[in-house]
Amino acid sequence: MKVPLLDLKAQYSTIKKELDEALIRTAESQYFILGPEVGKLEENICKYLKCKYAVGVSSGTDALLIALMAIGIKPGDEVIIPDYSFFATAGVVSRLNAIPVFVDIDLKTYNIDASKVKAKITKKTKAIIPVHLYGQTAEMNALAEIAKKHGLKIIEDGAQAIGSQYSDGRYSGTIGDIGCFSFFPSKNLGCFGDGGMVTTNDETLYEKLKILRVHGSKPKYYHKIIGGNFRLDAIQAAVLNVKLPHLNGWSEGRRKNARLYTELFIKSGLSTGSGSTDYKDGGRVLLPEAIYESAGHQNYHIFNQFVIRVKERDELRTFLSGKEIGTEIYYPIPFHRQECFKELMSDKRYTDGEFVFSDTAAAETIALPIYSELSAEQIKYVVDSIKEFYASHS
Ligand SMILES: *Cc1c(COP(=O)(O)O)cnc(C)c1O
Repeated sequence: MKVPLLDLKAQYSTIKKELDEALIRTAESQYFILGPEVGKLEENICKYLKCKYAVGVSSGTDALLIALMAIGIKPGDEVIIPDYSFFATAGVVSRLNAIPVFVDIDLKTYNIDASKVKAKITKKTKAIIPVHLYGQTAEMNALAEIAKKHGLKIIEDGAQAIGSQYSDGRYSGTIGDIGCFSFFPSKNLGCFGDGGMVTTNDETLYEKLKILRVHGSKPKYYHKIIGGNFRLDAIQAAVLNVKLPHLNGWSEGRRKNARLYTELFIKSGLSTGSGSTDYKDGGRVLLPEAIYESAGHQNYHIFNQFVIRVKERDELRTFLSGKEIGTEIYYPIPFHRQECFKELMSDKRYTDGEFVFSDTAAAETIALPIYSELSAEQIKYVVDSIKEFYASHS
């Protein structure tokens, strides 16, 4: 049985007619840059996330970049980020000649460990970028408290987390000063290329984001500030306007699959349940911390990725690949080990071995297929195959 990590064609086939119509409509309009489809998407996103303002941009990376520009990040400023994320989270900080300051993660959630942020704050610190990794909201209350006390801005990297909710029911991306989203095809809400969105409840930031999106010009050809071309294409917005009403269903599908994985891993004897970070009591397969009830709002996780931890990660990956099961490593190298950040690491703000948890995650995590259209048989096949691997590894 084939189980790809992600099957975009499976999703496309369920709404092909609507999507094809939207593409043709855009072609016939010959309106390609921003325009009514983008405006409509921004309105739809505000309604969906219950926030005041949304600005469609060219990618999730550009969403982060424009957000940092909007809050006025300057060369030499420090921005605190988790040590473990997709590269863009760190890259955008460096591209503004600011300094990304890395903080270790919490192994239970793989998100930034809020309790370790305070120690990294200096006079130069201007902002924190929590990443809602794999689709689970970071510990926002603790971060908000620190930010308030030290006068820092919070830019949420919600690229993997559109529709996820914090424990109080607020949507990821609407809790900090600016929220950033990606519509890269493999995200939970993906377009037909690159796209992104920034959200805010602050009118001043909203006005600035809109101006920065078009080279900083307002009125046209008059530049008080320098922005860039950060525009979202009409064709991507048209696709997203069709897809957005389906997002909750897809997220529920992913959650259902996560629940089934959890049940099957427990039944197989490989795991004792979700949320353990220790092989001694968690079993050979450590499952993501996940609270599956939608009621009561306990961190509504949307599972952009279903990531397990195993000691024999690379061997298991090879084995599963032989079984035609797609997996991925998010991410094999934490920021503090990236060659491009080597110079930063000689800084005395860091101590030896302080990134023990991001190192552990990089060495032991593996993402299994979780997309909404997976069948129960496919999930069972994945768990059975992992069981087969461990049968010969005891
Ligand atoms: C995908 C992703 C981004 C970047 O989004 P793009 O649309 O690919 O530019 C940023 N941060 C995280 C955590 C991501 O997963």
